Amino acid sequence: MITFERVTKRFEPWTAVDGVSLTVEAGEFCVLIGPSGSGKSTLMKMVNRLIVPDEGTIRVGGEDIAMLRPEDLRRRMGYVIQNVGLFPHWTVERNIATVPTLLGWPKARVRDRVSDLLDLLKLDARRFRDAYPHQLSGGQQQRVGVARALAAEPAILLMDEPFSALDPITRGALQAEMTAIHKATGTTIVFVTHDMDEALKLANRIAVLDHGRLIQFGPPLEILHRPANDTVRDLIGRED
Ligand code: ATP
Ligand code: MG
Repeated sequence: MITFERVTKRFEPWTAVDGVSLTVEAGEFCVLIGPSGSGKSTLMKMVNRLIVPDEGTIRVGGEDIAMLRPEDLRRRMGYVIQNVGLFPHWTVERNIATVPTLLGWPKARVRDRVSDLLDLLKLDARRFRDAYPHQLSGGQQQRVGVARALAAEPAILLMDEPFSALDPITRGALQAEMTAIHKATGTTIVFVTHDMDEALKLANRIAVLDHGRLIQFGPPLEILHRPANDTVRDLIGRED
């Protein structure tokens, strides 16, 4: 479970996140949506403490994250960003194995885990295990990014517009895989997008941000049928 209590972050004179209170339940697939500049990435980066809030508290599993060492906090969560950020001089296997290796998992266990993840993300191990990132397509790299984030079985997976650079077919396939992975692992997922179709497809609940404020938080059908204001209507693409 992730709890935001009146969380504010300013980049003077701008307020990027403005008094957001929100609880993402354990095991929930929460999609964070909003126009460009609405504060989505800032909110995500505060969860793993890449950004420190000016006001308010963020709790993970009930613990105030300000009390945890950032490296311990970050080991509990996987983080996937738009431009993957794979290490270019490392093979796919080594990229995926980064966190388990840091955690001191035995070699055989790491190797098995990499095999399972390549399977899960539908990457042929014989072809890709020893390949380098530049030999992979954008969609394949993104799959490796997801595998890497999942490698140490984190309780929480943060994904910031992970699929927005992909073609519609690859994107659709990865969305379906995220739904399957969520079902199979019960990982708590916070997923940022500005595409309402993607949000409706994936989410248990959708949180809508605008100008740093949380303006609606509810299940897809509620967002669709009872949009709280014009910003939500615009995101849905509805005229009424
Ligand atoms: P996008 O959909 O374009 O990724 P976003 O919702 O993720 O947008 P953020 O990146 O969270 O938006 O930015 C929110 C606001 O805070 C923006 O107006 C941005 O210009 C501002 N901002 C973010 N980071 C900084 C920073 N380091 N310094 C100054 N302003 C910042
Ligand atoms: Mg962003």
